[in-house]
Amino acid sequence: MGGGQPPFCRSSCPARLHSGALGAKSFCDMKDAYSLILAAIDDGTYRPGDRLVESELAERFGVSRTPVREALQRLETQSMLTRDGRSLIVATLDHNQLAELYTVRTELEALAAKLAARHATREEVLVLGRMVDDDHAIVDDPQALSRANRRFHHQIHLASHNRYLVQQLDIVHRTMALMARTSLAAEGRGHRSLAEHREIVEAIASGDAAAAESALRNHISTAYQTRLLESARVWASTIEQGPR
Ligand SMILES: [Zn+2]
Repeated sequence: MGGGQPPFCRSSCPARLHSGALGAKSFCDMKDAYSLILAAIDDGTYRPGDRLVESELAERFGVSRTPVREALQRLETQSMLTRDGRSLIVATLDHNQLAELYTVRTELEALAAKLAARHATREEVLVLGRMVDDDHAIVDDPQALSRANRRFHHQIHLASHNRYLVQQLDIVHRTMALMARTSLAAEGRGHRSLAEHREIVEAIASGDAAAAESALRNHISTAYQTRLLESARVWASTIEQGPR
């Protein structure tokens, strides 16, 4: 090792978990495979219900099978994957799980907004405002807007300046990858979502914790309602098509 490079970690490692104390090759490869598979679920390459095959994943990502196997076990422990006989498939959230997830998300995000209104630095607030400005350029691209939405919310989490809250929100957002579609794909939702983001930023900028909490709570509630309406629409179209 040398040149300031962390031990054993390839520059392509998406995890960037360059800890000397944990710097074992197997650990880094496992983190690598884990992050790659998680990212593939997150970006829709693998959707809920899709089967994940160890050998195919190893070939796709150019890593050996052992770290892939370890990554799959870890994802199964985290309920991101589920068993269908001997196969591992990407988990699906049912109606109740969705409600449970949104309940937790609402409370944690609202807390993050409240703390951000108290603790965000001037620069953090400016960055949040800049994000909303920039996101208007991609408002008609649901996938790009979904990624930008994630960045925006993560920025609020960081602005809360509470590391334990950030960790809990990371878990919630990881699980949200199990929703098949982004709610931002719904008609008109992109524009409304950005208007809500603007309201959240203004409340944080003015240091009004109660207003920030309320604005974020309303934002998540509207996103949840949009998702329920989308689910109802998909269900209705399935019924109309009838058995095939
Ligand atoms: Zn949002």
